[in-house]
Amino acid sequence: MRDSTLIERLIRPEIRGLKAYHVPSAAGMIKLDAMESPYRLPAALRAEWLKVLDGVEINRYPDPGAYALKQQLRAALAIPVGMDVLLGNGSDELIQIILMSVARAGAVVVAPTPTFVMYELIATLAGMQCVGVPLGNDFALDCEAMLRAIETHRPAVIFLAYPNNPTGNLFARQDVEAILAKAPGLVVLDEAYHAFAGESFMGDLGRYDNLLVLRTLSKQGLAGLRLGLLAGAPAWLNEFDKLRLPYNINSLTQASVGFALEHRDALDDQARQICADRERLYQALRALSGLTVWPSRANFILFRIDNRPATPVFEGLKRAGVLIKNLDATGGPITGCLRVTVGTPAENAAFLAALKPML
Ligand SMILES: *Cc1c(COP(=O)(O)O)cnc(C)c1O
Repeated sequence: MRDSTLIERLIRPEIRGLKAYHVPSAAGMIKLDAMESPYRLPAALRAEWLKVLDGVEINRYPDPGAYALKQQLRAALAIPVGMDVLLGNGSDELIQIILMSVARAGAVVVAPTPTFVMYELIATLAGMQCVGVPLGNDFALDCEAMLRAIETHRPAVIFLAYPNNPTGNLFARQDVEAILAKAPGLVVLDEAYHAFAGESFMGDLGRYDNLLVLRTLSKQGLAGLRLGLLAGAPAWLNEFDKLRLPYNINSLTQASVGFALEHRDALDDQARQICADRERLYQALRALSGLTVWPSRANFILFRIDNRPATPVFEGLKRAGVLIKNLDATGGPITGCLRVTVGTPAENAAFLAALKPML
């Protein structure tokens, strides 16, 4: 590089201070680190899907408003009448759009900790301060601490992952409602794991004018397509839409998600299978000594290695060909924790078989 002082002069210090989001290589491994679905669409459907793709005119720009896809999503996700939908290249892009639109000097984001890391990362990128409020016992919201943080910081946006990542629990509805009632700014309910949790604030959109609901298709077998959506009052979404780059949802994604939604039963069957396997995996982990295991409403399970360092266990699993997520260095209440995504029954068995001898 010809002149590192030029980098220092041009690149904002908070960007230079960041580390890029690191995705470890999983080549050849059983991949249980990223909450992906282990299942593709059934082979017969994939053959049909390829025919749909064959009809896509990739020489043309995509439908800029993804009108047809939005109509399908409205029905499939039960978006309340009168509410609007904004699509993103993954829900990460929608988080970015929300934060870019409110990022004036001094604007603050509040989120419980630990939670999804992108809230803080994107807030920092947008030049905002992110205030974390530690979760209480069993990772429940510390409602009083949240309300105090709201008083003190008057946040422009509060993020609540429902269920929370990486802890897997659903927050108490009454706590979320207390936050919605007190918040002077937006409250984003991030329902990335809705397919495995059932519970939702989608039906509450009309009751709170500061509520937005975020969903994604990533955890339900379509991670590679990158489609997230934000549901909320048109007045908010019209503003956010100005920040969205045109054609952010490519033609192949529009066609493929449209196809998948026509065959939603297949996706729903897979989600049901994953929930059943989650319970089996939870019971199997609970039966092992030397672990603390938390119940989950998502497609992953958080557990702690008691009385010994967690990182060597994570590394041992990796050597055995199983990649999960190491949260040991996160600090706070999840120090010593690992997070495993629910895979196929065979993958879960391979994970358990590799784990057992290390405890
Ligand atoms: C995985 C995840 C997302 C990101 O989803 P994409 O749509 O793939 O960007 C958002 N929120 C939470 C809580 C997640 O765990």
